[in-house]
Amino acid sequence: MQWRGRRESGNIEDRRGITGGHVAFGGIGGLIIAAIVYFLGGNPNQVLQQSPSDQSTQNSYADNTNDTLKDYVGVVLADTEDIWDSLFNSMHKQYTDPKLVLFSGETQAGCGYASAATGPFYCPTDQKVYIDLSFFNELTNRFGASNGDFAMAYVVAHEVGHHVQNLLGITDQVDAMHAKMSNEAYNKISVKLELQADFFAGVWAHYDQKMKHVLDAGDIDEALSAANAVGDDRLQKETQGRVMPDAFTHGTSAQRMYWFKKGYTTGDISQGDTFNDASLN
Ligand SMILES: [Zn+2]
Repeated sequence: MQWRGRRESGNIEDRRGITGGHVAFGGIGGLIIAAIVYFLGGNPNQVLQQSPSDQSTQNSYADNTNDTLKDYVGVVLADTEDIWDSLFNSMHKQYTDPKLVLFSGETQAGCGYASAATGPFYCPTDQKVYIDLSFFNELTNRFGASNGDFAMAYVVAHEVGHHVQNLLGITDQVDAMHAKMSNEAYNKISVKLELQADFFAGVWAHYDQKMKHVLDAGDIDEALSAANAVGDDRLQKETQGRVMPDAFTHGTSAQRMYWFKKGYTTGDISQGDTFNDASLN
């Protein structure tokens, strides 16, 4: 994705370091970060040449690498704002931007306590997306997504997809159904909610290319690889309170890739009704 020098969202809330989270990269972690910096177009040598034994250098090293990620996430979030604002306009609706909270270690969300182990999630109560940037390393190393910056864009766009569901009233409808359902029945609905967020991420990617021409060859494959990597075998610690059901099932890897691709190919919101899709009943 071509992102350098483009507008960054003003809706990033940077809580890293505020909650006692400790950022320290070195050794293999340093190499991973360097790889990510490389994919974002930075110079990994600048990262790797800094001596870990030099305390002040190490601090600026952690800041620099994280800020590259932060800048990238800021551009992706800005693109979601532009595109969803435009799509909501075309539906004669008003889009309100979500906030995106970057945290390290742990933080308090409107839906309860969140830790890095929670994974990225969206909280409908405060309309904020929560991401610990270490998840992006995990995506590659633990879940086996291919390297590449657009995997991260997919994650951000999926969480923003939950915000879109919230604004469209879908989240409330699903919550109302939840109250009358067995857990098993609700899990099926939860999968549909997740797959629709993947579909919305695909719709966003469609318009990011159509309106801004910023995708690189291979970006969609990177997103599909990430979607494949975070199928419902993904481990997740439950958080307290009411969180978008990322702690529950998300659908199989094949389903996740299918719905992202459908959104990307069609760019047509009306084709994203996962709730009435025969293949999911
Ligand atoms: Zn989700």
